[in-house]
Amino acid sequence: MRRPNRRQALLAVTVAGAGLAAGGVPELLRMLRPDARPKKPAPRGHPARPGPAPRRDPGYAHGSLRALRRPVHSLHDLTPAAPPNAVALTVDDGPHPRWTPMMLDLLAEHQVPATFSLIAEEVAQYPKLVERIVAAGHQVCDHTVTHPLNLPGLGAAQIKEEIGGAHDRIAQASGVAPRYFRAPGGNWSAQVMDTAAEHGMICIDWEIDPRDWARPGTSSITRSMLDSKPGAIILCHDGGGDRSETIQALRTVIPALKQRGLAFVAL
Ligand SMILES: [Zn+2]
Repeated sequence: MRRPNRRQALLAVTVAGAGLAAGGVPELLRMLRPDARPKKPAPRGHPARPGPAPRRDPGYAHGSLRALRRPVHSLHDLTPAAPPNAVALTVDDGPHPRWTPMMLDLLAEHQVPATFSLIAEEVAQYPKLVERIVAAGHQVCDHTVTHPLNLPGLGAAQIKEEIGGAHDRIAQASGVAPRYFRAPGGNWSAQVMDTAAEHGMICIDWEIDPRDWARPGTSSITRSMLDSKPGAIILCHDGGGDRSETIQALRTVIPALKQRGLAFVAL
């Protein structure tokens, strides 16, 4: 494994406010080990991740927020002192007028906190749903303005608008400045991560991907989610199409994982 160079190594994040919403234990984010990332399937909509982009000097003057050199995929990378049995459900691509209320009702029924990765264009259309997400105690995450799957291929100004513009619009609609950013399709680059860090956000990936966006069937989504181990960040969607399979799978998965002793936390 190649050692990170100095600039790449300046990547611990000090996030005074970062903590588990459910656990309520603020934690400092520790530096990720270069060899900590497991293999996972190709991200949504792309056969492979883009190659490493040239590193740019992030130019942070004070170092209170420094970029991670790759996104977090496990809860215990984010908060090492998280309860050992914790898992985090992340719900992407909303808000959606049909599926988000169903998701919120389901989560309320099971008293599960989650993290919603919001697309700012949808936020602009359905601001009341964003208020409802926050009022229910869920976490919000920046998921860009328009959900471009080629985010790393855009120009610097466009990347800034996609990430920073969404950050500001989500903050305005929700009253909460997002502390997390997730790249559409899990397509990351150094510039994407730097831009998220410039806006005070930690980059969040996932460990469990049921590929529910492709509607593989409720049983397939269920099986995938039931593979969740302690510390898993689980991906699913409440936007981008018919999410009935996702909702149906979660009706089984949430009680089953709880039965196994796992505890859901928001990021
Ligand atoms: Zn997405």
